[in-house]
Amino acid sequence: MGVTAAIPDEWSPTQLSGDRSRGHFRVVGPRGHQFDVRWEQTPTSLTVERALDRYLAELGKLARRRKLSLMVKRRVRALEGSRRDPSLQTYTWQADQTAVGAAWRCDVCGRLVIAEVVGDPSTLELPARALIAGVTDHPEGGWTVWALYGLVAPAPDSFRLERQSLMTGHQQFTLSNGAEKILVDRWGLADLVLRSTTLPDWFRDREGTRFAPFRARVTPAEHYGHTAFRWDGELPIAGRLSRGVKALTRLQQPMTRISGLLWHCPNSNRIYAVFGEHRGNACNVFDVADRMRCHPQGAAA
Ligand SMILES: [Zn+2]
Ligand SMILES: [Zn+2]
Repeated sequence: MGVTAAIPDEWSPTQLSGDRSRGHFRVVGPRGHQFDVRWEQTPTSLTVERALDRYLAELGKLARRRKLSLMVKRRVRALEGSRRDPSLQTYTWQADQTAVGAAWRCDVCGRLVIAEVVGDPSTLELPARALIAGVTDHPEGGWTVWALYGLVAPAPDSFRLERQSLMTGHQQFTLSNGAEKILVDRWGLADLVLRSTTLPDWFRDREGTRFAPFRARVTPAEHYGHTAFRWDGELPIAGRLSRGVKALTRLQQPMTRISGLLWHCPNSNRIYAVFGEHRGNACNVFDVADRMRCHPQGAAA
């Protein structure tokens, strides 16, 4: 969706909705702080100031309905200059909770973004400044960086988030561009998981059904200095027919091939997999894997 944020590790995403033109995500911090980012592609005739007026008026209405009064102040010194966007406006509101936030319109992508942190007023401004500064409202160089729960996966712009699953031990994104699908997975506690099995065996046991119709060839590879395994699979003719029939009913060509990379990062004690379904061109799959950094640079084993 093109809007991402740099979130400290101990913060967790709890909500994500929308698409490129309009959406919202929320992450929750360790001390009960909550960070909300909303974006919308709006006509440039709507100034940031007026958009912010509307947003705050809406909050005022909600507060009144709950018999609360909403105090609003524009311009928060601690947030001034937190972004280079010339349209930046900062604000704070207070009802039963307190928030500090900023709104801006990006000159490049035209999106209007409102980002705010709600929480204990005495510890709000410092994290708010860093969080607001870390919001990226458009992808750079034709790639969108998907980042949730510390799992960072850059993908070509044409891909959209189709599904996400975020559990403590396993995080997954499913990205799709309509024709191809890319699944990005991360598992924790790799040392435990791999104590009595090999990486490809563990993966087959765990995720075999996901790729069941594909006949795969597994070859050793390397990724970012780690031992990795490359998978290349094709649908057998029979499977191709049944998938073909299903796909035809949706007026699509079936995806007949699978490619992927599976690797173990001992530095972060994690297992990563990037797999794609496609019709013969696996470029996107390996491009995504190539751009994924499983552990901080400079700390390579
Ligand atoms: Zn932008
Ligand atoms: Zn690594």
